[in-house]
Amino acid sequence: MVTIVKRRVSILGATGSIGLSTLDVIRRHPDRFSVSALTASTSVDSMVELCHEFRPRYAVMADENAAAELSRALGDLPSVAVLGGSEALCQVAGDGDSDTVMAAIVGAVGLPPTLAAVRAGKRVLLANKEALVMSGKLFMDAVLASGADVLPIDSEHNAIFQCMPPDKIRDTRGAGITRILLTASGGPFRTHSAESLRNVLPAEACNHPNWSMGQKISVDSATLMNKGLELIEACWLFNTTPEMIEVHVHPESIIHSMVEYADGSVLAQLGSPDMRTPIANGLAWPERIEAGVAPLDLFRIGQFHFERPDLERFPCLKLAAEAFHKGGTAPAVMNAANEEAVSAFLSGNLCFADIPLIIERTLAATEVVPADSFDTIFAKDAEGRVVAREQIRALAV
Ligand code: NAD
Ligand code: MG
Repeated sequence: MVTIVKRRVSILGATGSIGLSTLDVIRRHPDRFSVSALTASTSVDSMVELCHEFRPRYAVMADENAAAELSRALGDLPSVAVLGGSEALCQVAGDGDSDTVMAAIVGAVGLPPTLAAVRAGKRVLLANKEALVMSGKLFMDAVLASGADVLPIDSEHNAIFQCMPPDKIRDTRGAGITRILLTASGGPFRTHSAESLRNVLPAEACNHPNWSMGQKISVDSATLMNKGLELIEACWLFNTTPEMIEVHVHPESIIHSMVEYADGSVLAQLGSPDMRTPIANGLAWPERIEAGVAPLDLFRIGQFHFERPDLERFPCLKLAAEAFHKGGTAPAVMNAANEEAVSAFLSGNLCFADIPLIIERTLAATEVVPADSFDTIFAKDAEGRVVAREQIRALAV
């Protein structure tokens, strides 16, 4: 008889695109998973529904007012402890009630609770890429120190992970790996002219051709900053450099990335563009479980296409590689400037084509210092945001 290890999972960002996909996989396997904590920012209604279905021990709202509202709404569920505030996010992420944490809060605010889960030595399913981009070496040092089992959920990194020898993930040198081929969809504006990028609207940027995702990552996919963040993410996860990684635009989004070996072999992971595949892979690793994903119909897809990224129309990818090379606090400042620029674009205060300009100007105006502590990184994140907001005001539409 096979004994199944039952995992107790906390989901940071439960109401988002990744959070809900995670809960859908969990829902399919009540024998394997139970829910310890659910967290969100302000979406009380969605949390009420999720708490009734999954009966977590903790429900956390980052927003204190939303926590008070949730607490009132869950009066009929006394077994759920409702907490509020960003400290509570870190508390449940590190709490002994769970052994597995899905890190799916969007943006830099996801770093402290993700780090709390890492420091507690848990299995950490890393969807939030901004945390690793901001604090790369310190984050990976914390992983090594605690022995946390960090598994990549970003579809490309999960694909690379699946195409590598399991014992070489953090030490790819000497594994015969010659290149990582990081695939990109190219986003909704892949074929747009540079001129027309000035007039695109938030709704068009969020309408990704292949993936259904949160707004911020959808805009990042449209600027190719998502690929820039992923380039840096891959460097830290797999202990490599941007020179070893070649971005391949693959508009079908079926090959999620590839690893090339010295003997000429190229291993690829394929699948329908559905995040439940990498999520199920991380939740059940090293086992394989059903994820509700439609089987791949290659006859219907028919053809795969590949092209090089156009760094003239989409300079964010280049900016990210430069920030990685500059090192220190440069990636944290780049990330902060990007978050501010994307938010200004989404609220109609910045033109899409000016997003890379804001990032470039913010990086030029912010001194790079060694990223020697998390406090330094948070301080530079804050400084980068102030500079970016000034630049956004200067360019506001
Ligand atoms: P989303 O916007 O759909 O959801 C974000 C979640 O974070 C929500 O639950 C929200 O309540 C929570 N949140 C937002 N602000 C918060 C705050 N200040 N404090 C606490 N919680 C807060 O985002 P998403 O698309 O699910 O993406 C989540 C993360 O996963 C991002 O870092 C993204 O880059 C990464 N990711 C997403 C996908 C995808 O397909 N959606 C793929 C790869 C990686
Ligand atoms: Mg991705």
